Amino acid sequence: MATLLAESLIRDVPDFPKPGIIFKDIHPVLQSPQAFHEVVELLKEDVKSKGADVIVGIESRGFIFGVPLALDLDLPFALTRKIGKLPYEKITEEYSLEYGTNTIEMHVDAISPGQRVYVVDDLLATGGTAAAAAKLIERLNGTVCGFGFMVELEFLGGRKNLPGYDIHSLITY
Ligand code: AMP
Repeated sequence: MATLLAESLIRDVPDFPKPGIIFKDIHPVLQSPQAFHEVVELLKEDVKSKGADVIVGIESRGFIFGVPLALDLDLPFALTRKIGKLPYEKITEEYSLEYGTNTIEMHVDAISPGQRVYVVDDLLATGGTAAAAAKLIERLNGTVCGFGFMVELEFLGGRKNLPGYDIHSLITY
């Protein structure tokens, strides 16, 4: 496949947010309507092929890519958020990081039982966040029909944390 414009725009920021991490900065993609459109169109094809009923965006950059998909495809949009941000009744999932833990939450009515759910984020790193999102969705009796990422950091082995799931990524490092 031809190289995506987005790939040429994503920039490496060394030592952010901690020494030793090379942060993939996606802001230049958002500044290029052509690149942004290209990414959304490709993810859209994948969502359509999975027969999704609802799109879930992972906070916070998952919202940026998930919302245009949901609007274009006329699908409901739901959120996973970091702990303490959601106002209504919610369920919570804690997961491990390299050091310490993180917690994400979802409203109890974000997913209806039996819905096919497509989960979107900007980037798959270790897969911990995506796996926690899948757990929340499954606790609400939804089925995860696919994951879509603009970027996958293959060397971090995120897919190992998401066994059995269908994962689509556009740009791999
Ligand atoms: P993980 O749970 O390790 O897959 O981390 C995924 C989340 O962290 C995603 O929402 C990414 O936006 C962010 N993230 C992790 N590592 C990086 C990186 N090297 N560059 C940019 N974003 C990252």
